[in-house]
Amino acid sequence: MIKVQVAAIRSSLPATTALIAVSKTHPIERIMEAYEAGQRDFGENKVQDLVEKYEALPKDIRWHMIGHLQSNKVKYIAPFVHLIHGVDSFKLLLEINKQGQKIQRKIPCLLQFHIAQEETKFGLSMDEATALLSSPDFNNMQHILPCGVMGMATFTENTAQIREEFQSLHAIYQQLKSRCFPSNPEFKEISMGMSDDYPIAIEEGSTLIRVGSKIFGSR
Ligand SMILES: *Cc1c(COP(=O)(O)O)cnc(C)c1O
Repeated sequence: MIKVQVAAIRSSLPATTALIAVSKTHPIERIMEAYEAGQRDFGENKVQDLVEKYEALPKDIRWHMIGHLQSNKVKYIAPFVHLIHGVDSFKLLLEINKQGQKIQRKIPCLLQFHIAQEETKFGLSMDEATALLSSPDFNNMQHILPCGVMGMATFTENTAQIREEFQSLHAIYQQLKSRCFPSNPEFKEISMGMSDDYPIAIEEGSTLIRVGSKIFGSR
């Protein structure tokens, strides 16, 4: 079932969109089923699970940290994490940079934006991001690799609203790209779309979809 789902989703994607299989709460054996179907990008939202699964599973898996990341836990994932999706504060950026410096690695990050109407979701506003990116401190961070943006749409049946929120993230990406990262080819990712809304996200320019329950079943 997992293999069939992975294959079906992957074959439906345009060449510009990659699938991250969100394996949070699911055991090693189930992750291996997706791996055997050719899946190599996996996402977790807790540092401890990410580390445990990294240690137990094949080393060619690209691990994505998709959840809220506390500064004091960056050190555990800094050596191996493929991409940190949820960067939404200066404090967290500073810590990622510090840990990257220790191990001489530029750590790939996405800036998370608040695009949903719900108040509970994490993320920056455009003003906050502009302030952060234009500060001299940011320019001194040599061990951060800014790779793009991430966001979550409102949990709603209203597909027009979801589409608008994804459009707003795409617009944010384009503004940042032209203002702050015009000569950074690695600033190219728009991480948006989950099990219930990824087809809309793809239509609105997603380059990374994060799909959990549609692959692994409900948690
Ligand atoms: C859990 C999670 C997902 C996947 O959610 P599904 O609805 O199971 O596809 C995607 N992104 C983030 C940030 C998550 O926490």
